[in-house]
Amino acid sequence: MDPEADNDGLTAGQLFSHGTGLTYNDFIILPGYIDFTADEVDLSSALTRRISLRAPLVSSPMDTVTESDMAIAMALCGGIGVIHNNCSVEDQYHEVLKVKKYKHGFIRDPVVLSPVHTIGDVVNVKETHGFCGIPITDTGKLGGKLMGMVTSRDIDFLADSAENLSIKLGDIMTRVENLITADSGINLKDANVILAQSKKGKLPIINDNGELIALLARTDLKKNRNYPNASKDENNQLLVGAAIGTRQSDRHRLQRLVDAGVDVVVLDSSQGNSTYQIEMIKYIKTTFPGLEVIAGNVVTTKQAKNLIEAGADGLRVGMGSGSICITQEVMAVGRPQAAAVYNVAKFAREHGVPVIADGGIQNIGQITKALSLGASTVMMGSLLAGHSETPGEYFFSDGVRLKKYRGMGSIEAMDKKNGEGSASDRYFHNEMDKLKVAQGVSGAIADKGSVLRFLPYLLCGLKHGCQDIGVKSLTILRDSIYSGQVRFEKRSQSAQQEGNVHGLVTYEHRLF
Ligand code: GDP
Ligand code: 5GP
Repeated sequence: MDPEADNDGLTAGQLFSHGTGLTYNDFIILPGYIDFTADEVDLSSALTRRISLRAPLVSSPMDTVTESDMAIAMALCGGIGVIHNNCSVEDQYHEVLKVKKYKHGFIRDPVVLSPVHTIGDVVNVKETHGFCGIPITDTGKLGGKLMGMVTSRDIDFLADSAENLSIKLGDIMTRVENLITADSGINLKDANVILAQSKKGKLPIINDNGELIALLARTDLKKNRNYPNASKDENNQLLVGAAIGTRQSDRHRLQRLVDAGVDVVVLDSSQGNSTYQIEMIKYIKTTFPGLEVIAGNVVTTKQAKNLIEAGADGLRVGMGSGSICITQEVMAVGRPQAAAVYNVAKFAREHGVPVIADGGIQNIGQITKALSLGASTVMMGSLLAGHSETPGEYFFSDGVRLKKYRGMGSIEAMDKKNGEGSASDRYFHNEMDKLKVAQGVSGAIADKGSVLRFLPYLLCGLKHGCQDIGVKSLTILRDSIYSGQVRFEKRSQSAQQEGNVHGLVTYEHRLF
């Protein structure tokens, strides 16, 4: 065929052929042919050589983005969270453990009392925790033999009079023989059915010995949605990642993360092509051969080659493209993100290593673009920051509810002292450094509500993007990039303006 006959844009290779540093906004994907509905699109994609996700989304190991709450939400929606390491080893261990022990909808650590506790103790629980549906066990602890339940109805009138506060719960509780309970093997769906039919407020879950394992609350019935795409291991526990550095002390951190059941570790360096990282990869691969290792960050094929040869199971791509980054300004080193993703992903694919496009993702379209350049997953910081599952408290500024979001290379994050490694490791600073050079900034982001609403929106948008491109799965998308079927075009400055809202005095921008 006459190559001149095809005016429909460029192949990915042609788009990047002259070494121009393009980024996501500098190009657009041309539409293809649609013969399927958007909800048929399969978003499964590889995170590492051995771990596959149903949703190609990863939350960044930043101390204002990913601890256990975010990691649980990411895994429930089919992605994965990487717990940051700007904290003590034990804190990170516990955050990983919380994700691995999480059982959706079940209260795993309910407040429990014993028959010798009193109505006064229930009143205390009500005042401090806000609920008073309390299982009673012989030991007064989770794991003790279930003896009964005390609920607000058992104490309503009694608690009004001071002299009743010393009444023992054993005298007023609903006894176990009159309770509806469920066995520990039950799944959430069946437990919800029992709870709905029983018309009771709580469903205690017990094991074969009658010992209390967990509790289910009727109040949570509506929230207990099923997450059929959740990322799980062979034991049905949620998948979770954790970041570590490349220092000698990180070997101890690694051991504790493995003890907690971590599924994948991410070597957190802004410039990953170093002897430290290569040694660490080799150490992990010989000490914990079953553990997946994501190395990085890299932006060139030469960097990628070294880490792949050392044994990396996945690569994190991006240097200086993050929303809070100033690396490219300060260090004069980095690479525009689209060029970095395309070039590294193409090389890594030849070695069977999936690539994470890390940083610079500001909207759904850019997720689609990153994946259409060969990335298997995207890692996000700012897009997830500000959600209720991120660490930190909300605060108000000019009447707007905000949450902190900061670069791990900001002075503020690097100064966080925890005695066991800190964010400054990521940027090769050590304790002797008198002066730290910031590679990131610290800022604030508006309250975005729960990420459990936002992630389905991202995935739905991504499916529609794939439909427009004419690809029914991310696997087909990647194949079509290299066969030249997916076509691109560069965008001039005015084309970019045209593609955005223009010509309006005011408008409302609702995402979903
Ligand atoms: P109660 O009837 O006073 O126990 O309160 P509700 O059942 O109306 O609300 C209890 C809420 O607190 C639910 O959303 C529970 O998931 C949540 N919760 C968290 N931890 C516990 C716990 O240890 N015990 C109980 N009863 N509820 C808890
Ligand atoms: P975002 O999604 O906000 O655009 O970018 C998040 C990514 O930026 C992170 O996953 C990480 O790779 C990178 N990053 C986080 N903090 C810093 C920083 O302080 N400096 C630089 N250069 N990169 C950072």
